[in-house]
Amino acid sequence: MLSLAALRDLRRNFPRARIDVLARPWVADLYRAVAEVDAVRLAQGVRVDADALRGAFDAGVLLPNSFGSALSLWMARIPERWGYATEGRRPLLTRAPRVPPRVRGRSQVYYYRAMLAGAGLRVSAAPDVSLSCPPDWARSAGADRLLGAEDGGAWVGVNPGAFYGTAKRWLPERFAAVADTLADRGARIALVGGAAERPVGAAIAAQMRAPARVLCGETNLPELVGVLSPLRLLVTNDSGPMHLAAALGLPVVAVFGPTDWRETHPVGEAHRVVREPVPCSPCGLRECPIDHRCMRRVTVDRVLAEVGPHLGAR
Ligand code: SF4
Repeated sequence: MLSLAALRDLRRNFPRARIDVLARPWVADLYRAVAEVDAVRLAQGVRVDADALRGAFDAGVLLPNSFGSALSLWMARIPERWGYATEGRRPLLTRAPRVPPRVRGRSQVYYYRAMLAGAGLRVSAAPDVSLSCPPDWARSAGADRLLGAEDGGAWVGVNPGAFYGTAKRWLPERFAAVADTLADRGARIALVGGAAERPVGAAIAAQMRAPARVLCGETNLPELVGVLSPLRLLVTNDSGPMHLAAALGLPVVAVFGPTDWRETHPVGEAHRVVREPVPCSPCGLRECPIDHRCMRRVTVDRVLAEVGPHLGAR
């Protein structure tokens, strides 16, 4: 999600070029929804990628910082290879700007765009991080199949997981309390997430007084986009679905703890970050070695205070 603004800047610089994205399989589908992208290829490792790319492109632009990503472009003999001079890969690149100090501590949205600018390309005044749900993705999520009957109150999503580790997860019983309060106000609740979040989704649903639709593990990426798209709001941890929802234009209320909110916050004016400043944050740890105070100190009322203005706002 954080690469979309850079992709659009790239397209503006090369309006008639063919632009393919080479992406990891679990995020590749996302780029199929981006109009600026002509085709999506699956990354399969340095040697396989190099063989597949050889002779097919005039330039390769690297958003990942890995050495391997630069090596595959070099082995493919792509004439122009642009990316940050990180991980000792300067000799492999033809344009290798350094990371400018001004983007440190900011969202990766700005980090990627600064790389393009450092490589001599023009970037727009404001980043465009939006995503539109393709109609067939909306149909595949199908209101009837995943979200249930179309009539009723507005759907609010709750995303209680975080792929990176338990340290980024707010307490399930507090998600349940927030969801019940929103249900009392007329909202219908959908619990979203991947297969790993099935247990926590089921636990939250079991703790709630109101009924909830548990969709954790029930959606692939296009279906998740289709489910998120019609929601009124998403209450979430710092996670991939948080960025998806923000890009789709729905307001996001995100609970942050161990990660640096300045770097990974949802991009946009409508979103709210809820956090308690504790001296040990950001720690970047997957599991908390102490008492998880960064999350425990975030109360249900704090989250509800941020959620309130959004319900009815869209
Ligand atoms: S060490 Fe501190 S910031 Fe890290 S997870 Fe634990 S309480 Fe949160």
